[in-house]
Amino acid sequence: MVCPRCESTGKIGKYGTYVRGSDGKKCQRYRCKACLKTFSETNFGIEYRLRKRHLNQNVFRILCSGVSQRRLAIILGVQRALIARRLLRFGRCAQHNLEIYRKQCNKVTKLNFDELETFEHTKCKPITAAIAVEDKTRKVLAIAVGRIPAKGPLVHLARKKYGLRPCERRQCLTALFKDLKDCTSSFGLVKTDKSKAYPPFIRSHLPNWTHEATPGRRGCIVGQGELKEGGWDPLFSLNHTYAMFRDGLKRLARRTWCTTKKLENLNLALNMYAWFHNLYLDSKKVSQLKLKWIS
Ligand SMILES: [Zn+2]
Repeated sequence: MVCPRCESTGKIGKYGTYVRGSDGKKCQRYRCKACLKTFSETNFGIEYRLRKRHLNQNVFRILCSGVSQRRLAIILGVQRALIARRLLRFGRCAQHNLEIYRKQCNKVTKLNFDELETFEHTKCKPITAAIAVEDKTRKVLAIAVGRIPAKGPLVHLARKKYGLRPCERRQCLTALFKDLKDCTSSFGLVKTDKSKAYPPFIRSHLPNWTHEATPGRRGCIVGQGELKEGGWDPLFSLNHTYAMFRDGLKRLARRTWCTTKKLENLNLALNMYAWFHNLYLDSKKVSQLKLKWIS
């Protein structure tokens, strides 16, 4: 056990119990001998300092099932702020879990990655989300988000209304590859589309890997652009996962009212969905679709 106050791993002793007011559960209290401060077993859970903790797992599952935050608040009969705060907490937990997963999983030898495009507040302010997916198992390995300038017909309008927008694509891809270092073996096969931005990154971060670039194809309507039309798709694991992201997170759906307001929160929402996706792939039993901190 690590002390949450001073992060020492020294001696920690039991220090009585207390009964939690909100549900009558008896909780163990501990005291750290290094800093002499106390804490309880609930410090380490996803439910720490929450009163409506019985809602947690449902909020987690429903937020990852294409329901907006406002609608979920109506369904459960709670305040919108409750849902908004849970989203942030779950996102942080999922981010941590994904990091641990990368360190502990078997080294990956086949992966796909690409960028998913969305926007904050208006289409004039696009965002790129680079997501790496393991081939075949379709598990999400790493996520990084960044701002990019508007493209195409919106360039002039965006420049006029919101000024210059920095392009964070480089930082975003660098962060993705840094995270991937934990879970990739020294040799392998990476599949992407034919973007010219990727080969330099792959050469510098995955030097011994083979790179296979596939030309992009037309999207079919049901997959919202990510699922491809007709025949065998070499990037199926990736495109299918992206289509699931768009379906699972309301803010990523096409032509939706729900938009991202803050980049950081989009990152947390993506992480939350990614963890849900990995849990779902692991076991298709609802009882195991539970969000908790892993160590
Ligand atoms: Zn301590």
